[in-house]
Amino acid sequence: MVKYISEFRDGEKAKALFRSISKASKKKINIMEVCGTHTVAISRFGIRQALPETINLVSGPGCPVCVTANEEIDKAIALASIPNTILTTFGDMMKVPGSYSSLALEKAKGLDVRVCFSTLDALKLAEENPDKNVIFYGVGFETTAPTIALSIIEAKKRGLKNYFVLSVHKTVPLAMKALLSLGEIKLHGFLCPGHVSTIIGSDAYKPVVDEYHIPCVISGFEPIDILMGIYFLVKQIENNEAKVENRYKRAVKPEGNILAQKAMDEVFEPCDTEWRGIGVIPGTGLKIRAKYSNFDASTFLNDIELPPVVEPKGCSCGEVLRGVIFPYQCKLFGKACTPDNPIGPCMVSSEGSCAAYYRYEPLKNNQ
Ligand code: SF4
Repeated sequence: MVKYISEFRDGEKAKALFRSISKASKKKINIMEVCGTHTVAISRFGIRQALPETINLVSGPGCPVCVTANEEIDKAIALASIPNTILTTFGDMMKVPGSYSSLALEKAKGLDVRVCFSTLDALKLAEENPDKNVIFYGVGFETTAPTIALSIIEAKKRGLKNYFVLSVHKTVPLAMKALLSLGEIKLHGFLCPGHVSTIIGSDAYKPVVDEYHIPCVISGFEPIDILMGIYFLVKQIENNEAKVENRYKRAVKPEGNILAQKAMDEVFEPCDTEWRGIGVIPGTGLKIRAKYSNFDASTFLNDIELPPVVEPKGCSCGEVLRGVIFPYQCKLFGKACTPDNPIGPCMVSSEGSCAAYYRYEPLKNNQ
C-alpha cells in the first residue's frame, strides 16, 4: 500500500511492475489512454519506450482543448467581438487557432479577452463591470463542467444580469463508444481518465464494457499508478475478461461525486456536439437548460453570421485524436508545427499528444 507521492515514483517498484507486465503480456495489443494528462505522464516518464513490444499505447481524444472544433473557437472570437464584452476562459484555450485567428491574437489586436484561474474570478469580473457583459468560455469534460454549473447557480443567487457562459463541454463515456464503433483501429483496452472518473465514478464505464466487451481500468497519474493500470489491463486482456477495474480508489468512487453530478444536472442537459476529428457524437455535449437561459451566451450567436469554418491545412489532429496515427506521423510534426509555432491544437495544449511527444519523446521526433 503506497502512501506518499515519492512512493508513486519509486524506481524499484516501477522496475518490478515492468517485469510483471512483460511476463503477463503475450499477444500484441493496443491500449488507449483516453486522458491527455495520462498521455503527458506516459511521455514524460518514458513509459511507452520501456514497455514490451507487445504493448502499443495509443493516445485518445482526452484533451478537451484539442477536441474543441474550430467552429467553437470561431464562436468565442465572435462573442469577444461584441462591443462592451469581456470574454474570459482558462489559459489553455488562448493560443488554440480557430479558422482564422486565436483568442490570443484577437486580444493582441485589442479585444478584451482575459484568462481566469477560476469561475469565481469571472463572477467577480462581472460584479466589478456592471456595464459590460462578461462571457465565460467553458471548455472541458465532466471535470470542469461542475464548477461552471456552480458559477451559473451562484450568478443567479447574486442576481447578476451580465454573466454568461458559452458551454462547449463534452462528456467522455459515449465518446469512447463512438471511437469503438468507428472501428478504425482495434483497441483491446482503455486506460480510463482519473480526473473525469472522480466525477462520473467507475460505474459510468459499465455500458462501454458491456456493449463492447472491452476492459476498462481507471488509474491515477503517477508512474506507478499508470503501470498498475497497464498491468491490470494486460491481465484482463490475456484472460479474455472485460470488466471495469478501479485502480485509483484514493480518488474515485463507484458512484462518483454525487454533489458535482447534481450541479451539472441542475444546469446542463445532454446535447449533440462536434468533436474535432470525430464529428458529431450524439448526447456528448452539455447545453444550458432553458431555466438558466438568461446565462446562456449562445443566444447572442443567433444574430451573428459566422465565417465559413476552415481547418488548418495539412494538420492531422483528427487522426491523432482518434488514435489512427502517432503525432510524429503527421508530416508537419516538428517541422512547420512546433510548440512555438503550433498549427493544430494538439501542439498547443499542455495536454496535447503532439506537444507531449515533441517535448518528451525526442527519439520519436526524429523518425
Ligand atoms: Fe496537427 Fe501539428 Fe499535431 Fe500535425 S503535429 S497533427 S499539424 S498539431
